[in-house]
Amino acid sequence: MNIILLGPPGAGKGTQAKKISEQYSLPHISTGDILRHNISMNTHLGIKAKSYMDKGELVPDELLVDIIKARLSEKDCSAGFLLDGYPRTIPQADTLGKLLADSKRKIDVILNIHVDDEELINRLSGRRMCSCGTSYHVLFNPPAKEGKCNACNCELYQRDDDKPETVRNRLVAYKKQTQPLIDYYNKKALLSTIDGGKDIPLIFEDIRKVLEKYD
Ligand code: ADP
Ligand code: ADP
Ligand code: ZN
Repeated sequence: MNIILLGPPGAGKGTQAKKISEQYSLPHISTGDILRHNISMNTHLGIKAKSYMDKGELVPDELLVDIIKARLSEKDCSAGFLLDGYPRTIPQADTLGKLLADSKRKIDVILNIHVDDEELINRLSGRRMCSCGTSYHVLFNPPAKEGKCNACNCELYQRDDDKPETVRNRLVAYKKQTQPLIDYYNKKALLSTIDGGKDIPLIFEDIRKVLEKYD
């Protein structure tokens, strides 16, 4: 099963992706995580991407082509994958479509997680991350031990781009560049919209109901 998770920053894509990936044994491919890893390793790509990410802007499409191409051709993607945060623009969706067609694959379902703006801001302002990719929220989803990851006990941190000014720019970028994908995929009858305003386990239940049809 090949899945795309679509939704604004803070919708809960990463949170649900962890659960889906465990339940259905699918590799979780987060372009945000890949870019942050490149930044921490000081790679060419990381240096270029950082200036955009710090401003809350999307990284240019061409910087992501090779990454996504390489990742999707890895062996663990042959039985399915879960994309989180890619595609985020129409040109990225076209690139992905071509890449998959070249290897005789296709997207099965797009889960579009919808959350109101006010709630997104509350979620992003309280988000705390672990370097293992797990995200928490100081109020809505706190770790068992304050400031420490449940999975690996590492120190949690706040992402630089979760500061209020950057969050505003990310929401603008989402509306302008990513939201048009809802129509793009709706026309292809691939989209299922999920109410992301519920509690984490209830959202996962709704997602499972959609995925049951494809499993
Ligand atoms: P995204 O990957 O879409 O940016 P995350 O999964 O990182 O979003 O979630 C954003 C923040 O909201 C995190 O702090 C997370 O713990 C919290 N969160 C995720 N889902 C919910 C939910 N259903 N209700 C409340 N808070 C949530
Ligand atoms: P969130 O879902 O909370 O917005 P991500 O971790 O998915 O966060 O993305 C963080 C940042 O990484 C984005 O604001 C953007 O600058 C960059 N980024 C991630 N994925 C893409 C993508 N597919 N295209 C362009 N930029 C991306
Ligand atoms: Zn961790």
